[in-house]
Amino acid sequence: MKLVGVIGGMSWTSTAQYYRLLNEGVARERGGLSSARLLLHSVDFAEIAALQKNGEWDAAGGLLADIARGLERAGAEGLLLATNTMHKVAPQIEAATRLPLLHIADATGEAIRAAGLKKVGLIATAFTMEQGFYTDRLSEKYGLEVIVPSTADRAEVHRIIFDELCQNVATDDSRQMYRRVMAELVSRGAQAIILGCTEIGLLVGADDVAVPVFDTTAIHVGTAVRFMLE
Ligand code: GLU
Repeated sequence: MKLVGVIGGMSWTSTAQYYRLLNEGVARERGGLSSARLLLHSVDFAEIAALQKNGEWDAAGGLLADIARGLERAGAEGLLLATNTMHKVAPQIEAATRLPLLHIADATGEAIRAAGLKKVGLIATAFTMEQGFYTDRLSEKYGLEVIVPSTADRAEVHRIIFDELCQNVATDDSRQMYRRVMAELVSRGAQAIILGCTEIGLLVGADDVAVPVFDTTAIHVGTAVRFMLE
């Protein structure tokens, strides 16, 4: 089994989920006492979130690139960046080591293409919904039309991620809000919803909307498990 280096802690609530799902995935494939061979470098998310807020993406990328180098030195054979948003700096991380980075947007794009869908709604941080690094990759590489919520709804979806989900809080009010936002995307023609932030699965899932959901955490983990065991 290959050793995977996880760059996590963005936030810890989703990284905890990655840890569980990676182990469950390996155990399902291999059976018995099999579990995932992992290195985890978990950051202080306050530091990263401050850089995001100030638009200091190069500094954030540099920090994550250093972590990637450390994981390579420690023996990792592949890298998993356990956040959608920080894939904005994926090129910096990829340039820092010789290791393959299992890109979360590629994992997601491939899953949606395999399902034969074309038009998808995306809920995620404002960075991921608005800055193009994610939606452009889905359009250009996978031929998807990606739609996002209104300006006001994007701000509220973003706020709930940082003020609640990343701090291990999931409320019924926020679940209702996300349900409404997803239903509106469906009414605008979305054939599926991408849960494009690794914490969103802590709040909503397949039962909260009438179309299929693509949970990026679960999809990313699936790609990593296949990589580990191939
Ligand atoms: N985990 C989140 C994501 O998948 C948000 C936290 C972050 O900004 O990295 O985008």
